[in-house]
Amino acid sequence: MRIPGLGKSSTAWYRRKRRNQCFWIAIVVLLVSLAGTLFQPNRIFTVFLVLALVCIAWLAYAEWDAHKSTRRAYDMAMLAAHDGFWEWDPITKALHVGTRLLEILGYQEDFLPDTNAWLKLVHPDDVASYNTAVSRHLKGETAFFYCEYRVLAHDGRYRWVGSRGLAVRDHNSRAYQMVGSVTDITERRNHQEDMEFLAQHDALTGLPNRLLFSQHLSDAISQARVTGSRIAVLFIDLDRFKNINDTLGHRAGDQLLQVVAMRLKQQMPAGCQLYRQGGDEFIVLMNPVTEANAAINTAQLLKEQFTAPFSGGETDFFTSASIGISLYPEDAGDGETLLRHADTAMYEAKGAGGNAIRSHTPMMNQRVTFRMSLETRLRRALQANQLSLHFQPQVDTDSGVLLGAEALIRWHDGEKQVPPDHFIPVAEESGLIIPIGDWVIEQAIAQIAEWRQQFGDIPPIAINLSARQFWRPALSNQILERLKAHHLPNHVLEVEVTESVLLDAEGGSIEELRQLRQAGIPIALDDFGTGYSSLSYLQRLPIATLKIDRSFINNLVLDDGSPGSEPLVRAIIAMAKSLSLRIVAEGVETVPQQRHLRTLGCDVIQGYLISRPLPAVEFAAKFLVDRNTQTSANKAAAQG
Ligand code: C2E
Ligand code: CA
Ligand code: CA
Repeated sequence: MRIPGLGKSSTAWYRRKRRNQCFWIAIVVLLVSLAGTLFQPNRIFTVFLVLALVCIAWLAYAEWDAHKSTRRAYDMAMLAAHDGFWEWDPITKALHVGTRLLEILGYQEDFLPDTNAWLKLVHPDDVASYNTAVSRHLKGETAFFYCEYRVLAHDGRYRWVGSRGLAVRDHNSRAYQMVGSVTDITERRNHQEDMEFLAQHDALTGLPNRLLFSQHLSDAISQARVTGSRIAVLFIDLDRFKNINDTLGHRAGDQLLQVVAMRLKQQMPAGCQLYRQGGDEFIVLMNPVTEANAAINTAQLLKEQFTAPFSGGETDFFTSASIGISLYPEDAGDGETLLRHADTAMYEAKGAGGNAIRSHTPMMNQRVTFRMSLETRLRRALQANQLSLHFQPQVDTDSGVLLGAEALIRWHDGEKQVPPDHFIPVAEESGLIIPIGDWVIEQAIAQIAEWRQQFGDIPPIAINLSARQFWRPALSNQILERLKAHHLPNHVLEVEVTESVLLDAEGGSIEELRQLRQAGIPIALDDFGTGYSSLSYLQRLPIATLKIDRSFINNLVLDDGSPGSEPLVRAIIAMAKSLSLRIVAEGVETVPQQRHLRTLGCDVIQGYLISRPLPAVEFAAKFLVDRNTQTSANKAAAQG
């Protein structure tokens, strides 16, 4: 549809130009004839004067008529079109809007005499961009005016409109009129906003996602560079989430994530925003960090949100979180590194047994690099069969009779041996402990079967189980199934766990241990004394043996004759006896230690005094081939 009067190509524009020229000619004629009439009154001048006046009057009428027909054309166009039309005078600011435009906004009557009235309806956030678009076009900087903005409708809600317009200019290119249309684009914008929301938010929890996080983080960093403020990134990861997912099902897993998101969100302090990074990982962006301890305090607050149980169908269960913290500008100057450092710190918290908070330190980076290379080598070692089991005897403190042995893993990395204390924590963190643990279970059971074929009944062999192995369901079934596959009775095996396994109490590990115990596999609590186990706690656990940590045995008899750890060891033994638990002292290296333990009533000793852990063949030759002979030899060693 063509709007009359628009653009240089229109006939109306030429007519207007001609009228303009005629008007100036008439003025000149008028002035000349007026001067002539005054100075030399003459009929000719009077005739010209009258003609000029008539001409001017006619031109004025033609102009008025043209304006009226243009307006009529606008009105018709406005009425017929789907879009709402408007016409605006940039000089007087007078506004003329069509009924369709009012209709779009739900208004009955035109109450918009000028731009000011219109601007009152424009969403405050959009006024600036609207004004800029108008003024740029008036200045001739844009080929046409276009702006998308929100306008207040009659129902009190904002509607999105797309407004397009063109200025009509005089011969000096000065805009003296602007006309245009308004289209209701609310649906499109809403759809677009929905799409944007979905792209930037997590569907399960409704939290902003990692995409939005990285945008917000980089904005925050740019801002902090200017203001010199601090930012913190808190990386939160649920402990044992996979276990929950596996045992209770994905629905319960999803519900847990929703509840966690809700609990954390409710506790967000001012200046903190929560995001879901993915899986069971959440991120908090703190901007700005005002106090030195603010990030730690927030992490603490968030960690506490996990103390109350979560409900998963019929049962309530517990979970915990590991939180890593990194700070801008201390730990990194860019968002990507800052996030990576928070992630690293979170892994440190996990490595410490989970349910912990760690702040990033430069040392962590070195550890990460080291750990990564160790992990790669360990993975290869597992495939290349570079792992083996050594066995260390446990003997009766009095008689020296072999009562059992502990299977300890060994890694021959080329020429050198990597101590388990170095690689087991890495295996636990990386999850490699699962295949390694499986290998130990199978290897130990196969070895027991072989020895039983060779030597008949032998005392139980203990294997060490890490907390992480319990994260996978049905560990007990797996062990029992392997024993069955080798046609072995259950009592040939013993299981050693540390308190970290038991602290996972709500994670199902206690149930797994109970099943093993019921099946006739004794459970030993390893490294006792280094953790927090209380007497009342021990009573509830399915354990048969306490292994006193070697650090206490080491300090049992001090050179200067001072009591060392003796009172503690005495108390532990007394307590264990009252609970009918068997006591094994680890790391017994000297005869005085051994004697002392005997007087304290310790049943079993294990340590270099009897033997270092030995390869299977050597262990068999020394301790299984002729057990009677060995017993007297052990006794001789034990009695010094
Ligand atoms: P642990 O379970 O406390 O094992 C006892 C550790 O004490 C062994 O170290 C053993 O060699 C050492 N030891 C025994 N007697 C003496 C002694 O008289 N003096 C001294 N100084 N040390 C003694 P190892 O073999 O280096 O194992 C270290 C840790 O690695 C183990 O501590 C255990 O936590 C872990 N580990 C070893 N094998 C396995 C395994 O198969 N699975 C898992 N999950 N962890 C394992
Ligand atoms: Ca052990
Ligand atoms: Ca131990």
